[in-house]
Amino acid sequence: MVEIVKSHNLEPLYRYAFMPLHLWLFLPIFEKTYLMRIDILSVLPELLESPLNYSIVKRAREKKLVQINIINLRDFTIDKYKSVDDYAFGGGAGMVMMIEPVYKAIEKLKSERDYDEIIYTSPDGEKLTQKIANQLSLRNNIIILAGHYKGIDHRIREHIITRELSIGDYVLSGGELPAAIITDAIVRLIPGAMSDEQSALSDSFQDDLLAPPVYTRPAVFNNWKVPDILLSGNTREIEKWRHEQSVERTRLLRPDLSLDE
Ligand code: SAH
Repeated sequence: MVEIVKSHNLEPLYRYAFMPLHLWLFLPIFEKTYLMRIDILSVLPELLESPLNYSIVKRAREKKLVQINIINLRDFTIDKYKSVDDYAFGGGAGMVMMIEPVYKAIEKLKSERDYDEIIYTSPDGEKLTQKIANQLSLRNNIIILAGHYKGIDHRIREHIITRELSIGDYVLSGGELPAAIITDAIVRLIPGAMSDEQSALSDSFQDDLLAPPVYTRPAVFNNWKVPDILLSGNTREIEKWRHEQSVERTRLLRPDLSLDE
């Protein structure tokens, strides 16, 4: 199925001519199949439009590698004012996201397909790492719930959420930017999202190593020179240099990352 999704975008249609006859019947289904689906629930969907409509994520959506749906929780409210928040039981400043719209939205999605993970973005969640992004990029269907206000009714976290992710030890106004960050980190890892030159394998944290420094033209600027080795054309030596740089930078900047190879 993966191949067919890819070939739909990259190859001309005559490739299908070699398919066994009975597979032709399923072609309309295959054509609509995305590798992955991410549904993001939010009370401020506008905040999510721009970050997920450019660069690698945009191209992955166009190539149908991922379907990203931004769902407005206000479409699932239960009163005529379309309320998504209410006062906190026990008093105190700040509003709390109500359980009903979240429950209704998630139930509707779950009635349509199975989900591998229902993620809540939260400052007290597990810290997002490249390892987690790698894991999540192998899933089929994911829901990400962006919180807002003082947070969400805790019963949602107790009974509905399967995983809580934080993007760092600081507090943001809402979970929309964290949801966009998590989505970006996942989507660029889906096979086919990046071209070979952009290969994720040479990025920081894959293999627990930081990326080596990169340079582009001009070779000399203000008398600041690009390392000679990169201009040598000796691919093997360049690879060796890059690896050494990665190891050295990791040792200096992030000794906490494992250097076991
Ligand atoms: N009162 C909460 C913070 C609420 S901030 C607390 O102290 O933990 C409002 C929303 O922004 C949260 O519900 C969460 O969804 C999101 N958010 C804020 N900071 C975040 C972070 N570092 N990582 C992930 N989500 C975050």
